[in-house]
Amino acid sequence: MPRPIQATIDSNALRHNLAQIKASTPDALVWAVVKANAYGHGIERVFDALRAADGFALLDLVEAERVRQLGWRGPILLLEGAFETRDLELCSRLNLWHVVHNEAQIDMLAVHKTHQPHRVFLKMNSGMNRLGFAPSAFRAAWTRLNALPQVDEISLMTHFSDADGDKGIEAAVATFSKFTHDLSGERSLCNSAAVLRHAKAQNVRADWVRPGIALYGSSPDYPQHAANEWQLQPAMSLNAAIVGVQHLQPGDTVGYGSSYAADRAMRIGVVACGYADGYPRSAPTGTPVCVDGVRTQTVGRVSMDMLTVDLTNLPQAGLGSEVTLWGRPQHTKSDGVQASGVSIDEVALSAGTIAYELMCALSSRVPVNTRPSPHLKNPS
Ligand SMILES: *Cc1c(COP(=O)(O)O)cnc(C)c1O
Repeated sequence: MPRPIQATIDSNALRHNLAQIKASTPDALVWAVVKANAYGHGIERVFDALRAADGFALLDLVEAERVRQLGWRGPILLLEGAFETRDLELCSRLNLWHVVHNEAQIDMLAVHKTHQPHRVFLKMNSGMNRLGFAPSAFRAAWTRLNALPQVDEISLMTHFSDADGDKGIEAAVATFSKFTHDLSGERSLCNSAAVLRHAKAQNVRADWVRPGIALYGSSPDYPQHAANEWQLQPAMSLNAAIVGVQHLQPGDTVGYGSSYAADRAMRIGVVACGYADGYPRSAPTGTPVCVDGVRTQTVGRVSMDMLTVDLTNLPQAGLGSEVTLWGRPQHTKSDGVQASGVSIDEVALSAGTIAYELMCALSSRVPVNTRPSPHLKNPS
């Protein structure tokens, strides 16, 4: 029997989240951001549910090829553009649109031989100071691109550093507007946080939005807003089972380093999930989990293959009980009621990180199924 751990990707949740994004910015075209293997969910697993998007955005050329292999003939955007000249050959062959964020990429385009001119997204650095042309250099870049026979349409984009926080996007939007107002081309500004928090602002023109995390059902500004406050549903669930039970006396300790000591008689469940599965080792005692749909918490250190949870107040739980590390339980309770789950945002916060990192870190050793299953798999 395989080890009792399972990740589940919920296609209906993905569909719902995409519809939710579209409803919050009804006039915009939507890039479904599927970089990093669809934030750890698997491009092939999310593709069908997200094909109602207007395009797919990612940055790895191999991933772009995978999206084309799935039969997608619509737009694909390379968010970091070409890394070397020959990448442009693949852009020509697969009709990939690509970001241009520096002079070197314009140089590459200028010597690229193509029958079909490329659609490019010219990126401004509006304060993040990662990729993009300085506002003062933006017009010259646009002019240079516009003169190239290799270039078809030029769209204008930027990426916000603070769409999820107090600083907000006002200054970045003002900079972007000031240096682009008389340039033609479609605009793409908003990531998930900007769509949910700011897309209705008057000056945020959004021909294309670029949601990632919201599609996967995590709140981009947790804990200010929980995912359900944004009407988002978790796309990824991680469930495992209890494979051992221990009874502790006061003073007994749990796990490596004896970092947790019982101050009373306790029952401890040992769960078949550890950091080698992608559960963060940094999650301290007290991180929320669900056992058979009832909330409890972790105790002691997370180890490679196991972690431990408090079952003291869950007398009915024991060997084989389902443990939801994040997302929703896989099994409904016997009364048919959908048991509660644990939001990945809560687990991430407890571990001092963000849901993005947990999703991306789901380990390849964890078997993944999709729900609802597209067809019954052959029993193996
Ligand atoms: C990753 C990324 C996004 C999506 O960001 P989320 O916070 O996941 O919505 C949008 N635009 C760019 C340029 C990105 O790199």
